[in-house]
Amino acid sequence: MSQETEHVKCLIIGSGPAGYTAAIYASRADLKPVMYTGLLAGGQLTQTTEVENFPGYPQGIMGPELMEDFRKQAERLGTEIRFGYVSSVDFSSLPHKVVVDEVKTITADTVIISTGASAKWLGLESEQKYSGFGVSACAVCDGFFFKGQDVAIVGAGDTAAEEATYLAKLARKVYMIVRRDEFRASKAMVHRVLNTPNIEILYNTETKEILGDGQSVTGVKVINNQTNAETDLDVTGFFVAIGHHPNTDIFKGWLHMDETGYIITRPGSTETNVEGVFCAGDAQDHIYRQAVTAAGTGCMAAIDAERYLAAQEHIVTA
Ligand code: NDP
Repeated sequence: MSQETEHVKCLIIGSGPAGYTAAIYASRADLKPVMYTGLLAGGQLTQTTEVENFPGYPQGIMGPELMEDFRKQAERLGTEIRFGYVSSVDFSSLPHKVVVDEVKTITADTVIISTGASAKWLGLESEQKYSGFGVSACAVCDGFFFKGQDVAIVGAGDTAAEEATYLAKLARKVYMIVRRDEFRASKAMVHRVLNTPNIEILYNTETKEILGDGQSVTGVKVINNQTNAETDLDVTGFFVAIGHHPNTDIFKGWLHMDETGYIITRPGSTETNVEGVFCAGDAQDHIYRQAVTAAGTGCMAAIDAERYLAAQEHIVTA
């Protein structure tokens, strides 16, 4: 049961690139934003190693360090950053109600949702052990580190197909591990994979173990689920592309979502179907999923919130 109540002008839920960028802009617009970080403060980038594609860092930067820079900038400009997770919301009337850690109720004139998405993993212990050291869930982010090397990717949907062709341009060889005897991806994407000479598709194949030397990945043990034959693939990179899960469960029933749970925003804006509630970053984007695109939509959300509040004040004072 919630016990304490507090009112804020702008509440930001989530602390990845989208949330922090929204915080930077909202602070500078004098919205006095309060941010709840969620359980993984800093978001997905805190679980990666080197980030080379975030503009402004010519030498690249470590993911956790980049997120620390985001945090410091948001804090310096006046965002109040609090560790805590939002356990439920009530968007039935204004101001919006948001319950934090199941005990505290915040009422907010505007809410910016930047709760992100989580990559799905196979669930192997070795996968966790080498995450960031050869195991990745983002080919666009990490493919470059495997230039000229042999890699494997698991998955057979559009993401896996797209990432396999992306990797094929960088790597010497790409093994694609497909658990059934067919793809889930669209025909056009499958066509692209089949026409890329350095992709070898292993159908009816599952990953048994990621092999490593204690430091980084040295191979992958796979098993054919029809014959039970096991094979070790000599690869230095292992990419998991079996889907993402948007972190939007607490908003179900309040906000319009697609069938996977991604929040639907008005095209060209961050507005959701509830007035005063905006969404930025991966929670509303299953296509680009990049730190820089998340940051871009975070900026949009703060501007949308500021304009919404300005319009409200105009109505009240008119
Ligand atoms: P999907 O859910 O579409 O596909 C997931 C794939 O991973 C499936 O092939 C599934 O196998 C496989 N998989 C799931 N769990 C395991 C496991 N434990 N071991 C091995 N394989 C596993 O996810 P995507 O991320 O590919 O796509 C999500 C959505 O985004 C889709 O609607 C897609 O069309 C869309 N998208 C569109 C793009 C585009 O248009 N350019 C690009 C990327 C995504 P199985 O088939 O056997 O279930």
